[in-house]
Amino acid sequence: MTTIHNYINGALVAPASAQYLDVYNPALGQVYAEAPDSDARDVQQAVEAAQSAFPAWSKMPAEERSQLLLKIAAGIEANFDKLALAESIDNGKTLKLAKAMDIPRAASNFFFYATAIMHHASESHYMEEGAINYTLRRPIGVVGCISPWNLPLYLFTWKIAPALAAGNCVVAKPSEITPMTAYLLSEICIEAGLPPGVLNIVHGLGSKVGQAITEHSGIPAISFTGGTSTGEQIAKVAAPKFKKLSLELGGKNPAIIFADCDYEKTLKTVVRSSFLNQGQICLCGSRIFVERPLYEQFKTDFVAAIKNLTVGDPLDDDTTVGAVVSEAHLHKVLSYIELAKEEGGRILTGGNRVRLEGNCANGWFIEPTLIDGLGYDCRTNQEEIFGPVASIMPFDTEEEVLLYANSTQYGLASSLWTENLSRTHRVAEELKTGIVWVNCWLLRDLRTPFGGMKNSGVGREGGWEAFRFFTEAKNVCIEYQQKS
Ligand code: NAP
Repeated sequence: MTTIHNYINGALVAPASAQYLDVYNPALGQVYAEAPDSDARDVQQAVEAAQSAFPAWSKMPAEERSQLLLKIAAGIEANFDKLALAESIDNGKTLKLAKAMDIPRAASNFFFYATAIMHHASESHYMEEGAINYTLRRPIGVVGCISPWNLPLYLFTWKIAPALAAGNCVVAKPSEITPMTAYLLSEICIEAGLPPGVLNIVHGLGSKVGQAITEHSGIPAISFTGGTSTGEQIAKVAAPKFKKLSLELGGKNPAIIFADCDYEKTLKTVVRSSFLNQGQICLCGSRIFVERPLYEQFKTDFVAAIKNLTVGDPLDDDTTVGAVVSEAHLHKVLSYIELAKEEGGRILTGGNRVRLEGNCANGWFIEPTLIDGLGYDCRTNQEEIFGPVASIMPFDTEEEVLLYANSTQYGLASSLWTENLSRTHRVAEELKTGIVWVNCWLLRDLRTPFGGMKNSGVGREGGWEAFRFFTEAKNVCIEYQQKS
């Protein structure tokens, strides 16, 4: 049994309560570690440590800060296998995916922002009247970063790296459901020589630690990724305190397939975009709209491709679908499959819990599931399921599919499959999502703005967007005398 510690003021410490939470291995359905059940007292210690570290960290030359962050990136790479295994055991995702996506991306997040600060230049605005403005972008102070369980280290570092690079000190909370790689990151930070208090990681429940971070008057900015209803709670607490907020929330993403698409590529990628990480990626396409002339053929081939996916032990090389993250989540996803049936949906493939043999007999596995026969506006097609469940339906016109695609409260991402250039631009412009992928999915350039419209979020991450969020802009206007 591994005991996870908080990382406060440069040291690995027990929580003030001396209480711990069970951490489960979803593939086995068993407790394998314990994480601190921290509370407001631990957050207070972390804020004090971060406040003490802030003056020196924020004034450190960018080159030195960059070097330290590069050491953390190198530490992630040096611990690649250990981190990938830990992520797979903690989350239920396949080890192959952790190696291909989660851990490389965590290292890239640090590389990206460590090098970005070496190239940062602030704006200046010249006035013909005889004045010049320049914009100072200075770190905010102590910032809070709260992240979810689906891409644990990937999303945790996506916030922490820009916050630290911009010169802030951080109090961070990973999901209590998947705390292991955040804990291993604290060991890497110690090894890299990150000064004490610059990054503090407080483990525990959202209702205690997350709430305490959100409420704390010493934390004027919060970067949050998670569900829309949690985002709403955070906004309610933070808004009256006028905190800066970045909210990356839920999604119900459409995949729009026109009859003129590159068929094989579309089929292959839409299988991936529906079921990667057991459908537990905020960007997964869960509503698949297919132009009518292609509908029957696509549906048949899609079902066949889904049946070829292998649900199994996440550590096995052949497994393509691992475990869902928790027992509660398993039941939530299964309840949506029941709802779909009640709403008149037909299960084309999947629809059940999988009971594996051997080691993983008590694990939380669900068959990849495809449903048809549902209206675009039923609950199954409006609410976020966040599991290996997708629905498929036909459409006849661009107008109709845009109505379907834009009909939910969410507006995170969409994918569009067509070889028609004019249609690409037309439809991309009309889609109410922060990200539109055309003939691809999850192709990420870290320089681009990332985030959602409507109830999928407020603000954007990525590139200079995150850097702007984690700094205060100050305009300095200097008037000088013109020669008469
Ligand atoms: P969640 O339940 O909203 O939790 C996210 C984080 O917030 C966790 O660390 C959680 O703590 C914490 N939290 C819970 N209540 C809180 C409160 N009152 N105050 C402050 N923090 C609180 O989300 P999740 O189930 O972990 O993740 C799945 C959701 O995240 C999905 O909706 C998905 O779409 C969304 N997501 C969005 C993006 C994006 O970029 N837009 C990316 C990934 C995931 P606990 O440890 O107690 O859970």
